[in-house]
Amino acid sequence: MRAELEKIVGATAVDERRVRDLWPLAIMEERAGNTPPRVLVVRPSGREQVAAVLRLAAANHVAITPMGGGSGVCGALAPAAGELVLDMGAFDRVLEVDETNLVCRCEAGVNGYALEQQLNARGLTLGHFPSSLPGTTVGGLVATRSSGQQSSRYGSIEDMVISLAVVLPDGTFAAPRPGPRSAAGPALHDLFIGAEGGLGVVIGAVLRVHRLPESTVGRGYAFRDLRAGLDCMRAVMQAGIRPLVMRLYDAEDTAFGGYDLSDGECLLVVATCGLNAVAAAEASAVEAFAREARHLGEAPWERWLRHRFDLSAERLKAFLEPPGAYLDTIELAAAWTVLPELHERVKRAIAVGGLALCHFSHAYEQGSCAYFSFGGSGDTEDEARAAYGRAWEGAMTTALELGATITHHHGVGQVRARWVADEMGGWMRVWRALKDGIDPGGIMNPRAVGGRS
Ligand SMILES: Cc1cc2nc3c(=O)[nH]c(=O)nc-3n(C[C@H](O)[C@H](O)[C@H](O)COP(=O)(O)OP(=O)(O)OC[C@H]3O[C@@H](n4cnc5c(N)ncnc54)[C@H](O)[C@@H]3O)c2cc1C
Repeated sequence: MRAELEKIVGATAVDERRVRDLWPLAIMEERAGNTPPRVLVVRPSGREQVAAVLRLAAANHVAITPMGGGSGVCGALAPAAGELVLDMGAFDRVLEVDETNLVCRCEAGVNGYALEQQLNARGLTLGHFPSSLPGTTVGGLVATRSSGQQSSRYGSIEDMVISLAVVLPDGTFAAPRPGPRSAAGPALHDLFIGAEGGLGVVIGAVLRVHRLPESTVGRGYAFRDLRAGLDCMRAVMQAGIRPLVMRLYDAEDTAFGGYDLSDGECLLVVATCGLNAVAAAEASAVEAFAREARHLGEAPWERWLRHRFDLSAERLKAFLEPPGAYLDTIELAAAWTVLPELHERVKRAIAVGGLALCHFSHAYEQGSCAYFSFGGSGDTEDEARAAYGRAWEGAMTTALELGATITHHHGVGQVRARWVADEMGGWMRVWRALKDGIDPGGIMNPRAVGGRS
């Protein structure tokens, strides 16, 4: 197989190594001595090479998983022995930034942070800021259906994608279709947003970009309790304001973040932006909605800005270094009316080891994401794994019981494989029919969207 791959991409574009993403359980397993297998990693340049590699994989019935930055946290990128990995790193060109029509065309391996910097240099922004941005690629952001810190204003990745270029498992190519919108049949490229590489390889994207705002006004508010803060967030969104950032931390997460508030108070950080007058007017409107809160001025916003990328891959790995340590995040989403109970019950379920935090961000008129963090330490690796599993089980079953989504933006991978069919219901049949139709040989990422479980 290696010789045939080398014929397609050249000898220097094939190597053998261990590959996995940043799923905390996989990091814990490796710490316990269960290292992932060495697999062949092939790095194609150009669409014809991708097509040829896929055709070779199909002819040999070998599974192949596309890889971007490897920053996923769900175990979607976890090739088994004998499988292949398709490293998209050579697809790293920003092909066009159209400053008049506010469209950017780029290849799938472009780094998310590098793209944002190139856009910023022209006074533009994609507006997509997952906390992991420096470790991501456009293809991975698309394939995981990601969402960033500014989603309440610019939307999530599906709102940014105008169209995609993909190579299907049989090696055929589907080019981007014209924008800004089309009614010529369904927007089938949407199927690849969140497909975790299970349907084919995204090789390029046409993205909406925005002009950078003239100004930003950021402030902090201390609410006496979570419900009052959630009411304020709902009022802001339902008034039609689209804040650049809006994040409400529960009392424990407020304290954990080092914000010095009174016991039980919950911090809300809000920033509005746009033309100077609009940013200021919306900031005043937010202030009116937060009239019951204690006003903290700009300091919490400035602090948040300084620390917004603090939870890096390196820090995650460092947290998980000590034997027995476990740590993970679980991002759910639900209607406003469900959020208080979801918060209370999931906090209880994940508090297996001490650390249990929650903040609310990614707000909509209809509801919000509730982002939980949990962690602790077991005396043995088995104990750590069991506690980790209990936290996930409790969070997932609670979400399903309350009609919340089991994932707002990290995706499914292996970590949610047991529960994804419960959320998707009849749509799981549709997903499987699509998968069988587009990928009849089943070569594309066998761990995508929960695999075949
Ligand atoms: C500290 C930290 C913070 C994070 N914060 C956020 C956050 O705020 N918001 C958020 O949404 N996520 C966040 N994540 C998760 C992660 O960064 C995202 O899932 C990211 O979108 C993955 O991009 P990637 O390029 O690293 O993809 P990878 O991890 O390489 O791959 C992820 C999945 O996409 C598939 N894939 C990759 N490239 C392609 C392609 N070209 N074609 C088809 N399939 C492909 C892979 O097969 C795999 O299934 C965070 C992760 C960490 C470690």
